[in-house]
Amino acid sequence: MRTVVIGGVAGGMSAAARLRRLDHDAEIVVIERSGYVSYANCGLPYYVGGVIEEHGSLLLQTPASLDERFRIDVRVSSEVTAIDRDRRVVHVRDLVESRSYELAYDYLVLSPGATPVIPPIPGIERALALRTVEDVERMTEAVERTPDHAVVIGGGFIGVEIAENLVHRAVATSLVEATPQVLAPLDPEMAHLVADELRRHGVDLHLGDSVTRITESTVELASGTSLDADLVIVAIGVRPDTSLAREAGLAIGALGGIEVDEFNRTSDPTIYAIGDAAEKTDALDGEASLVPLANVANRHGRVVADHIAGRHVRPVTTIGTAIVKVFDLTIATTGWNEKRLVAKGRPFLAVHTHPGSHAGYYPGAQKIALKLLVDPESGAILGAQGVGTEGVDKRIDVIATAMRGGLTAPELADLELAYAPPFSSAKDPVNMLGYVAENLLTGLVDSVQWHEIVEHAGQGYLLVDVRTPREFARGSVPGAINVPVDELRDRLDELDRKDVVVICQVGQRGHVATRLLRDAGYNAKNLSGGYQTWHKSPAATPHLVA
Ligand SMILES: Cc1cc2nc3c(=O)[nH]c(=O)nc-3n(C[C@H](O)[C@H](O)[C@H](O)COP(=O)(O)OP(=O)(O)OC[C@H]3O[C@@H](n4cnc5c(N)ncnc54)[C@H](O)[C@@H]3O)c2cc1C
Repeated sequence: MRTVVIGGVAGGMSAAARLRRLDHDAEIVVIERSGYVSYANCGLPYYVGGVIEEHGSLLLQTPASLDERFRIDVRVSSEVTAIDRDRRVVHVRDLVESRSYELAYDYLVLSPGATPVIPPIPGIERALALRTVEDVERMTEAVERTPDHAVVIGGGFIGVEIAENLVHRAVATSLVEATPQVLAPLDPEMAHLVADELRRHGVDLHLGDSVTRITESTVELASGTSLDADLVIVAIGVRPDTSLAREAGLAIGALGGIEVDEFNRTSDPTIYAIGDAAEKTDALDGEASLVPLANVANRHGRVVADHIAGRHVRPVTTIGTAIVKVFDLTIATTGWNEKRLVAKGRPFLAVHTHPGSHAGYYPGAQKIALKLLVDPESGAILGAQGVGTEGVDKRIDVIATAMRGGLTAPELADLELAYAPPFSSAKDPVNMLGYVAENLLTGLVDSVQWHEIVEHAGQGYLLVDVRTPREFARGSVPGAINVPVDELRDRLDELDRKDVVVICQVGQRGHVATRLLRDAGYNAKNLSGGYQTWHKSPAATPHLVA
């Protein structure tokens, strides 16, 4: 029995290697268009920056090492140009010897990945994109010619990683993003923290502006801004590479990826599709989704190998957990964000917290901005986002695990997580999210979000800042009066209304004040995440958005 795999990187090589481990006798052929197999595409931006110094470090395997260990027939610089489903053969073009041949298969696994989206902008031919080792070689050569100024088009994961690495190489770098924020998986108040970090490290950020033309030496923006650009890099997203599948008549899903069933079978049961090219099933609503991430590609590679080998398979739905480093910040997300929940009309509660990465009394604790999204009826965790310099990965990974395990948000409070002062607090930030969620879900408190303040003020709510006068003097939400939490009990007569929004630094003192006011008969709501969330949000700094 012969299995042919198209694409020899994340998904394809996972499928091939697993299949060999399951079936000693299977004939496995991997066809890879580029000159390399099993390369670390996630590491490519760091090679541009010189953080990964050795070219060889990007290459996890070679055709020779794969033959030696797994007896897998890996053919690099070879492209599958067509699939003949009736005869169960693929047409292969050997790009070195310029010859074509047919290769028969019993099973075919498509893992051709995604292609960078190249917008039809005049002059775009000069822009470089990053997908393969050959791409990174071209980009690194261009950086080594010491450009004075680079422009990165696109503020997604790859765009911000490349911008950071160009700065690392001391290249003056502009980043242009058409939407008002970087990193689309984040909500705007979290993305603002990332924009600050990029600016702090010298990236010249242009949000809410788009490229209209690329000349020999500049990039022209819709706003009229002209950016010097010896080097132009385009990273505005990827789209599933479905060319072979389309031509072979396989079903394509509504989102433009190859349609697959729960075992990653395409509309032809002898052909599987995995990785960035294939659609996934979203864990939250069961609908199709696109998740171009390495973990899912690897996992689905294993699923397919198990299915071909006739093993029991657990179908995998996706929650889209992702992480990225932007200079000193770690940014991680899982599940849905608020924008998507709003777009889908799905009700939710949002919790913002700003805990320390570990106990405040132990040196070096760093603030983390966390956001949890919760179903207001069932308490199900819908998503989470974290931004900070330390401990973000751990918290988002714990929440992602809780989501996979079906825990509700209040049950986050029950998790027994490893604690000693250098690592966490006795009540870990994840536990705290659980406590806050439980308080909201049980109606013990009510909260408002940063973008609801104006609306509440318009409805006549009194804004009461319960921080110290010193904190208040350093800045507060416009229109707020200051009554410190410790004096609130004795100064209730200063509140001329029963409807109150309570503001403190991060929401903790606000919780105490909100409880006190509610017991005293006020309709009090706590500002989620406090002034810390509000003053870094677009509500406080609209001038930074566009
Ligand atoms: C610069 C960069 C950084 C990334 N960083 C991260 C990260 O930090 N975390 C993360 O989770 N994900 C990251 N990703 C995404 C991750 O790499 C992909 O999700 C993953 O590699 C997808 O696996 P795949 O098997 O679908 O496709 P790929 O790994 O892209 O492999 C597809 C291969 O198929 C080959 N191919 C295509 N068509 C043919 C054909 N007709 N014949 C023969 N070969 C063909 C291509 O040459 C390619 O090598 C990054 C991607 C890039 C480009």
